[in-house]
Amino acid sequence: MEKLYIKVDDWKNFLKGKIKENRIFAPVENNNFLFYENLNEENLEKIVYDKARAVEPVKIFLYPIKEFVVPEIKNIEKLVVMGVTSCDLRAIDVLDSVFKNSDYKDPNFSKRRENILIISFDCKNPYNSCFCTLVGVKPYPEKNFDLNLSKIENGFIVEIGSEKGKEFIGKDTRFYQVNESQIKQLEEDRKKVEEKINEINREFDIKNFENLKGMYHTEYWQKPNDIKNCVSCGSCNFNCPTCVCFLLEDTSTDGNFKKVKVWDACLFPGYARMASGVSPRPTLFDRYANRLLCKYWYMKENFGIIGCTGCGRCISGCIGKIDKRRVLTEVLKEKVKV
Ligand code: SF4
Ligand code: SF4
Ligand code: SF4
Repeated sequence: MEKLYIKVDDWKNFLKGKIKENRIFAPVENNNFLFYENLNEENLEKIVYDKARAVEPVKIFLYPIKEFVVPEIKNIEKLVVMGVTSCDLRAIDVLDSVFKNSDYKDPNFSKRRENILIISFDCKNPYNSCFCTLVGVKPYPEKNFDLNLSKIENGFIVEIGSEKGKEFIGKDTRFYQVNESQIKQLEEDRKKVEEKINEINREFDIKNFENLKGMYHTEYWQKPNDIKNCVSCGSCNFNCPTCVCFLLEDTSTDGNFKKVKVWDACLFPGYARMASGVSPRPTLFDRYANRLLCKYWYMKENFGIIGCTGCGRCISGCIGKIDKRRVLTEVLKEKVKV
């Protein structure tokens, strides 16, 4: 892929021009966390280029929390989303497998995929909850982006990932060809970040996901102390870039029939409950197990890809302070003993 270089001030001025004709979202810091904001002249200076993922997964731009299925949505707006990290780009593969390439296609998802331009960033400062490298994801984008920005001294290396990305840059003369020392700096920075993530995760052993096969039984999941702290809040589901479950609700508030699709969470006690009141997963251990088995076994079996990118949102956002990596390490050890 072609790589260019642009100075920091030139990039800011380039963006100033772009916000006049595009709706652009980018990560901005608030209380030490990154949140996507719609860019304008004021917050453009606040974009964070050298951290890691935002709190919200990129999924919110492709598969909104709530939307109409009936009546049909006619106009899906074009968006530019900046700061998407490599783990969220992997999540797009999962979403594509479920909503675009499966037998049951979601036309709204496909339209949003066409109408989005993604400017991803390299991760420079991973969080303690990041474990992308443990699930085969690099902390720098390799695919699924239109442009990728890597911050280096005084500027950015801009990698062109698609025709759409190339058109976005156009013939702007503020972009130069990269030189060898800039590429060397990029490679060294990437290696350091990978090493840092491996160091963060050195106590966890969660590689052999295939060992989770057949671990439905509640007793496996009652052993790890962490799971007892689950309060079924559903935050791990709603923060996850690859959770895809939804409810369909029929309404007719103004006399016209409407069908609404809204995110659902398998950690909620009522998620799988049937009309008779019986649930196949009555305890929180069953529900927690189901979520992990779905991520690392069922999704792989059904769609050929594991449903976890290692983004760590389900760890950092868990009100019960459950570290999924610790749970997996303990549960997988139990399997080995059997
Ligand atoms: S975020 Fe934590 S407490 Fe909430 S449902 Fe998920 S595992 Fe349970
Ligand atoms: S399961 Fe957790 S770590 Fe994996 S993709 Fe979802 S939120 Fe991220
Ligand atoms: S999990 Fe990896 S790719 Fe995702 S934000 Fe953290 S360092 Fe970046």
